[in-house]
Amino acid sequence: MTKVIVFGSINMDLVTRSPRLPVAGETLRGHDFFTAAGGKGANQAVAVARLGIPTQLVGRLGADNFGRELLTKLQASGVETGAVLVDEAAHSGVAAIAVGGRGENHIIIVPGANGRVNQEDVGRLSDLLPGAAALLLQFEIPMPAVVAAARAGRQAGVQVILDPAPAIEMENFASVLYPLVDIITPNEIEAGQLVGFAVDGQETAAKAAAALRQQGVGTAIVKLGDRGVFCATPEETFFVPAFPVQAVDTVAAGDAFNGGLAAALASGRPLREAVVWGAATGAISATIAGAQPSLPDRETFDTFLRDRGIL
Ligand code: ADP
Repeated sequence: MTKVIVFGSINMDLVTRSPRLPVAGETLRGHDFFTAAGGKGANQAVAVARLGIPTQLVGRLGADNFGRELLTKLQASGVETGAVLVDEAAHSGVAAIAVGGRGENHIIIVPGANGRVNQEDVGRLSDLLPGAAALLLQFEIPMPAVVAAARAGRQAGVQVILDPAPAIEMENFASVLYPLVDIITPNEIEAGQLVGFAVDGQETAAKAAAALRQQGVGTAIVKLGDRGVFCATPEETFFVPAFPVQAVDTVAAGDAFNGGLAAALASGRPLREAVVWGAATGAISATIAGAQPSLPDRETFDTFLRDRGIL
């Protein structure tokens, strides 16, 4: 078993609940408030570490109370945080999330320290890469840093797994980034944005995966929510159905999937099995509310698979 490295964002989610969302200029009284650790980089690191795989996170926090709390939470989940920089010049990344009575939401993300991740952080990453099984990347930090990290991963011979989330305009980055990516894992919306046509099921997912491979990505895995996952590798294409579960909230299901996938690969499992680990971790996370609170520990994960005759 080898280690996994995550290079990405760390956020504090600030969540309010009110009977409805306010219109511009309106003040409303809410009835619930909580904070929760989030950020796609941190979520993916916690997902891998909770499955018992040595995990290092590289990123930035602000020198504030949120930063201190986020660091403590990461460590409590088993994530090694020696390469998380406390940036004196920025606040910790926050997501202000307003949820209305029917579950509708407004989200404002202020990147803070995440927006300052740069080549200097890639330097710390490069020191950690030798011997790692996988490098996990996402799009909540500046694109030049993502590209530089992917290049460092490729140079170190480490498998680069890119979650192209949240969906963004790739502009000129695709031609540089894709050839550095071993596995890309968009959901339907992200896949649609990357390839320029709607992705809404197995057939269009297969077309999108082929298009991504043609542009230089090694393996494309398209996440189709409660319907499953479509994969196209250099050797084969296959579909893995989702585990039927009673979903409560799918926040961080995509991050859970990537964590399970990377944990399996770090344990020496073949890709097909790694996709099943991803689907199981995603399904479990969909049954529990919140981002990091929904990510399973190893015992929960093993029980889930054993109950379904897989372990
Ligand atoms: P994202 O969170 O990025 O939108 P998805 O919603 O596709 O990604 O979820 C990622 C993976 O988690 C899915 O491919 C699936 O394996 C699993 N998953 C998500 N939602 C459910 C669900 N309701 N039931 C079972 N599995 C789910």
